Amino acid sequence: MQISSFHPPVRTLMGPGPSDVNPRILEAMSRPTIGHLDPVFVSMMDEMKALLQFAFQTQNALTMPVSGPGSAGMETCFVNLVEPGDTVIVCQNGVFGGRMKENVERCGATAVMVEDPWGRAVDPHKLEDALKAHPEARLVAFVHAETSTGAQSDAKTLAEIAHNHDALVIMDAVTSLGGTPVMIDDWQIDAVYSGTQKCLSCTPGLSPVSFGEQALNRIKHRKTKVQSWFMDLNLVMGYWGSGAKRAYHHTAPINALYGLHEALVILQEEGLEQAWARHARMHQALKAGFEAMGLRFVVPEAERLPQLNAISIPQGVDEAAVRAQLLQDYDLEIGAGLGAMSGKIWRVGLMGFGANPKNVRLCLGALEDVLS
Ligand code: PLP
Repeated sequence: MQISSFHPPVRTLMGPGPSDVNPRILEAMSRPTIGHLDPVFVSMMDEMKALLQFAFQTQNALTMPVSGPGSAGMETCFVNLVEPGDTVIVCQNGVFGGRMKENVERCGATAVMVEDPWGRAVDPHKLEDALKAHPEARLVAFVHAETSTGAQSDAKTLAEIAHNHDALVIMDAVTSLGGTPVMIDDWQIDAVYSGTQKCLSCTPGLSPVSFGEQALNRIKHRKTKVQSWFMDLNLVMGYWGSGAKRAYHHTAPINALYGLHEALVILQEEGLEQAWARHARMHQALKAGFEAMGLRFVVPEAERLPQLNAISIPQGVDEAAVRAQLLQDYDLEIGAGLGAMSGKIWRVGLMGFGANPKNVRLCLGALEDVLS
């Protein structure tokens, strides 16, 4: 069988990610591949670190992109910071807290779950109670922006409570970075991971991470080896660490890194505050349209993410048929519910490059047409 080249259709991506990729990023990715130890590439890596420090608002020296999707960044945080026998408090208010639990248990540790309703922020009082009940807990993990529901948690308060009980903090910022404030140093987050395919509008497959001094200290004084060779930061740092000497660890995804570099340059050009304000404005416009159509948001207004709009499926509507028609007639992708929300909600993303008036109008017009 003769198979020809793959040419995907041009879609508008307004689901939970990947989001629409800025054409500047695709163009950057098509530039010539050079060696991952080429001095020109190495100076690009230094710029990348500086750009990520800007995006995360941190001075952390260990700030870099993990070669793998958001899940690889998540796993990097857990395998390096958790040792067998540890107790870790995991806050769960959606799908991704559940993945954190999986990570903790696969590290041979015990996960103490702090459960909140899906569609709500993490309740700081419940975290406080769990830490009082488990003084042996060494780590607290939570999702800042729960993509499965569109709820945003108060990261600064959660980190403060964790530190008051001598626990370090792992934060998931996959959907928040670039869309809403993420202030790693101000909030004193010890370890954070994100993704490229949401509000950075880059292609999927890389995970920016950042680790503070306390986290590095904990990693340095581990009693056991990190069980993942690929994600062991002691080894990865030989390539991504600072200083002139960079040693081969794995072949870096060169062209994907060109893309992330460009995405971060675009973010710097716009400015963080301006990017956050644009996401908020587009959310307000979408919200006004949804409400005029009688659609209801899942998350209370004060806990809502502008970049991930979860709305309840109106009674009697075949939600999968609506999504299929949007894709067929409008080349428009919106997201289905995930996990416990499956079949109950749609998730409409306004992320990065896709958070623009044209997308808002397209989504409102198309949905109105399909639902009428
Ligand atoms: N964490 C959150 C909050 C996410 O939304 C996602 C992906 O949607 C992930 C982690 C996992 O990222 P990836 O799918 O890039 O592995």
